Amino acid sequence: MKIYNTLTKTKEEFRPIRPGEISMYVCGPTVYNYIHIGNARSVIAFDTIRRYFEYKGYRVNYVSNFTDVDDKMINEARAQKISVSALAQHYIEAYRADTAALNVQPATLNPRATNEITAIIKFIQQLITKGYAYESAGDVYYRTRKFANYGALSSQNITELEAGASEHVNVAEQKRKEDPLDFALWKKQKQADEIAWASPWSLGRPGWHIECSVMSTKYLGNTIDIHGGGQDLEFPHHENEIAQSEAATGQKFVHYWMHNGFVTVGADQAKMSKSLHNFVTVHDLLKTTDPQVLRFFMASVHYRRPINYSTENLEQAKNILQKFKNTLVNLAYRLNDSSISDRSPAVQAAIAQTERNFIKAMDDDLNVQNALAAIYDLLPILNANLSLAKVDKEALKHAQKLLTDWLGIFGISTKKLLNTVQKQDDEIVRLVAQREQARKNQEWAKSDELRDKLKAMGITVEDTPQGTRWRRD
Ligand SMILES: [Zn+2]
Repeated sequence: MKIYNTLTKTKEEFRPIRPGEISMYVCGPTVYNYIHIGNARSVIAFDTIRRYFEYKGYRVNYVSNFTDVDDKMINEARAQKISVSALAQHYIEAYRADTAALNVQPATLNPRATNEITAIIKFIQQLITKGYAYESAGDVYYRTRKFANYGALSSQNITELEAGASEHVNVAEQKRKEDPLDFALWKKQKQADEIAWASPWSLGRPGWHIECSVMSTKYLGNTIDIHGGGQDLEFPHHENEIAQSEAATGQKFVHYWMHNGFVTVGADQAKMSKSLHNFVTVHDLLKTTDPQVLRFFMASVHYRRPINYSTENLEQAKNILQKFKNTLVNLAYRLNDSSISDRSPAVQAAIAQTERNFIKAMDDDLNVQNALAAIYDLLPILNANLSLAKVDKEALKHAQKLLTDWLGIFGISTKKLLNTVQKQDDEIVRLVAQREQARKNQEWAKSDELRDKLKAMGITVEDTPQGTRWRRD
């Protein structure tokens, strides 16, 4: 299997540190608001990647943090006149509810920054001892220039970075630094009402970047297989994580860096973000949108490509899911009925070919679009067999299992998908029975009327010697 590594800018053969096991760290949300669909995209992308690894038989140790203290948390708590921890608690619960609705598997562990203060202080001390960090007026900063490979992940050299750093507007902070490139590991409390912890340097709180270095190394080890996050985290967040972790441990931090693309919105395809005020929260969207449709919409675009969010694109995802649903309903129906099985080598060959194409596509850096295209090609072949008097039960049973597993990788539960049609099914069964009765009574006009009514619902009725059979068009 090949994975695109942001650090080397190439697709590399994936080799885990321990056979059969994968350590994966994904940067989690700052819990000061409901997640917007740009955040959901990252969560869904890495859940889909995780599910594919699990499908391939790996045991995935998946850690994702909650940033429950930073400037945004402090400002929002102040605005709402509640404590930072009450704010965090509220939005952590909201996050769990939203991601559960999107059928995201819970992480193995969700460490919280505020529970890791002791470990963070210890980590910063290590960096000071090694000469990579220094205290200045109660803050602690990282000596960026001392880390030789700084900028490698985001392909920037020190000159470019210097130009960027000089644009910083926080003059007071710049004065405390030895170098404009340095970044904060520990921030001294600025106002008495600010949440703060005692440390060797000041009453204060950790910077954002340090928490991920601490949690990743603490819970997954000095070197991990995969570190993920949105493309916007490449610089400076992940660059800083590498600098902190590798300086502290002296070991390689991450083997494969994976970054998901943005969600864009509107005709100009602007990046969706809280700062641009063009975001849609998952919490709001799920009031009007089937979570399975949103999940499928997001999971069906290659994780590195941008997703353009629009109601048309959501509608398209809904239509594709409907096609899956139709085939799955017919599969369940025909596998249960009493028709005699008839082997179809052509259908069996098509299923085997789809299986190979699916794995080949997914093994190529999770090319979900090619993988789905392979499945879409199979559906009409299955549908054709399903409409015959004698189906290939063995082949169709295998196809049913494959479709269930494959949709599962995309976070779609076929059970849930079929449940949503259950109500309509009851109505169909009732109408089909009425029509059969009408035929027995030779009430042809009534029978035709019922057939037309079913046709309008997208149901074709067939009269066979074994009785009346129905299927979705
Ligand atoms: Zn992070």
